[in-house]
Amino acid sequence: MSVVDEIRCSHCGAPIAFKPGEILATCKYCGYTVVIETGQTFTFEHSILLNKYDQTQIEEPIKNWMREGFLKPSDLARKSKIIEKNLVYLPFWVVSCEAKSVYKGIFERITPAVVKEGKVEKEYDWLVLARKATEFPTREYDVPLEGKIPFDFRKVEAFAKVLNSEIDKDGAVELARQQIDEHHRFLIKEDVDRVIEMKTEIDLKQAVYLHSPIWFVKYEYKGKNYQLLGDGATGMVIKGDIPSSGFGML
Ligand SMILES: [Zn+2]
Repeated sequence: MSVVDEIRCSHCGAPIAFKPGEILATCKYCGYTVVIETGQTFTFEHSILLNKYDQTQIEEPIKNWMREGFLKPSDLARKSKIIEKNLVYLPFWVVSCEAKSVYKGIFERITPAVVKEGKVEKEYDWLVLARKATEFPTREYDVPLEGKIPFDFRKVEAFAKVLNSEIDKDGAVELARQQIDEHHRFLIKEDVDRVIEMKTEIDLKQAVYLHSPIWFVKYEYKGKNYQLLGDGATGMVIKGDIPSSGFGML
């Protein structure tokens, strides 16, 4: 399994454990976050969103989600069984910025085709997951940012797990730029059929380091296992596997 290393917290002196690849680690005793490479205290805003559900309560919003929507089997809530539920505080960077993409492309829907130039300019609180190997649908997760408070380990449940960041601020801003560029490319396709030139620039306002309570849930339905992700702050299901209702495949 993965090796665990240790440094001393520069604030309270307690040992802070971290794993290879982690860049920021938070002290379990005083809640200070340190940059592992330098041992220095982290100077950016570090926030947490509070989880509002215990291991029993979280079943209710999940069952409600199972009851909603015509794409789900009608007996899903009744016949399924939640077999695993783990609360993990995932690290994110919220990159607040103005993004501008300038482009040139060819509009081919008329004859003769024409060259068009334009720009897409938008403001974002762009979410970047601060872990490399974890799959997470960041674009489907509407972070309830208004509920964030300064990070506080006393608010973290004993049964929950807190993951450290593997991406620093500069890395997060660059990832946001790439993802926004991709998103703008998608928007530009409304306007031109072929993009010849495109450049995206980011005007960074703020980057906030944030831990968010995410429930990793496994449920069983008619002998098969499915997964879903729940937001512990709101009870919303961020994304979930839906068993096929049994129609249409015959
Ligand atoms: Zn400490």
